[in-house]
Amino acid sequence: MLEDVKPLHTPPQLPPEDLPLDKILPDEPLLLMGAGPVPVPSKVAAANSVVINHLGDTMGTIIERVKLMAQYVFQTRSRHVLGVAGPGSAAMEMAISNLVWPGRRVLCVQNGLFSSRFAEMARRVGGETTVLNVPLGQPADPEAVKALLAQERFDVVTLVQGETSCTVWNHALPEICQLAKARGAQTIVDAVCTLSTMPLPMDEWGVDVVVTGGQKGLSSIPGVSLLVFSNEAWESIENRSAPMPHWCLDARLAREFWQNKGYHYTAPVSGILALHEALRLICLETLPARFERHRLCSKALQGAILAMGLTLFVDEPARLNSVVGINVPEGVDANAVLKQMSSRYRVEISGAFGLNLVRIGQMGEQARAHNVLRAVHALGMSMQSAGAKLDVPTGMAELERGLADAT
Ligand SMILES: *Cc1c(COP(=O)(O)O)cnc(C)c1O
Repeated sequence: MLEDVKPLHTPPQLPPEDLPLDKILPDEPLLLMGAGPVPVPSKVAAANSVVINHLGDTMGTIIERVKLMAQYVFQTRSRHVLGVAGPGSAAMEMAISNLVWPGRRVLCVQNGLFSSRFAEMARRVGGETTVLNVPLGQPADPEAVKALLAQERFDVVTLVQGETSCTVWNHALPEICQLAKARGAQTIVDAVCTLSTMPLPMDEWGVDVVVTGGQKGLSSIPGVSLLVFSNEAWESIENRSAPMPHWCLDARLAREFWQNKGYHYTAPVSGILALHEALRLICLETLPARFERHRLCSKALQGAILAMGLTLFVDEPARLNSVVGINVPEGVDANAVLKQMSSRYRVEISGAFGLNLVRIGQMGEQARAHNVLRAVHALGMSMQSAGAKLDVPTGMAELERGLADAT
């Protein structure tokens, strides 16, 4: 056998043929009006191009400011504000892996793709997971949660504020968090697409952990995410005796950097500077004004889409404002619509995972009159050329009325 092995005479490996970035990127960037990432303000983009030392006084000041501004955005006095180098899912996994271990009982309220991710993560770290499956397109019913909480003791309850995948808003979130608290369970809320687009006062609603990503509601870049633990949740982390399987996601190690100015891993400095600017813009705008801008723009968009003759996937009051799901009419190919929108109108929106929908985002910079106008016009024209029978001018007129007070 051995004599069959021939010595390998591999030629030296050469660099690939050059392909500059400007040959890959379109000349004019597409307007990102999908389910994330979203356009970033110029101050965020500029900050993202800076690299500084990840330790030392300057970074120390940046981190103090990020935490202070995050406390406002999350509406919390908790000092346990942590960042993580990673997507929104990494913040979700950090929340789960620090509060769930073998033997811990977790109730996962599941409305779709993102809320089911919590259940998957909890199982992977050994949690005993019960799933409450909410019917597609419906919000979570507090009575159903209450019934499960009465049957069994849970340590943790997970739920999403806005389920981006099917565009549902869990408007009974405060009530569900209150029910969980009354039964001694801690709540983990996914606010990746909703934070700073609609109210989620963490302390007032008694939420134990709120997680968010950079590239959606906050209008920052992808890759740096934030989460806040309540004092009670932090106590559970301090008192856990089970080994922590993750190293990067260990909240007690992350505290070294986020509270003690020490070294955990090299922080994503540029992304944190970008996040600093995104949070600063939210503080300058103030939450009430920001919520109103998002509500007004999203309602105007929904009204226009209905007026031109399309229908929306979710009925009020469970319809999410941060991401709007639009039914694709029969005989219309969703992919052809998306393709036409990006090639002809330079506007990009999203399809949906397995559902016959297209989704338009209303998060951060997406919720601006000029961006909504472009997106609605592009959608109407592209739907029409893909075969939908629509009245686009009536939709645009309705949009103008709806946006009259928007900035
Ligand atoms: C996008 C999203 C996530 C996942 O965020 P990533 O940054 O893609 O990991 C989780 N939850 C919700 C509600 C989201 O919209």
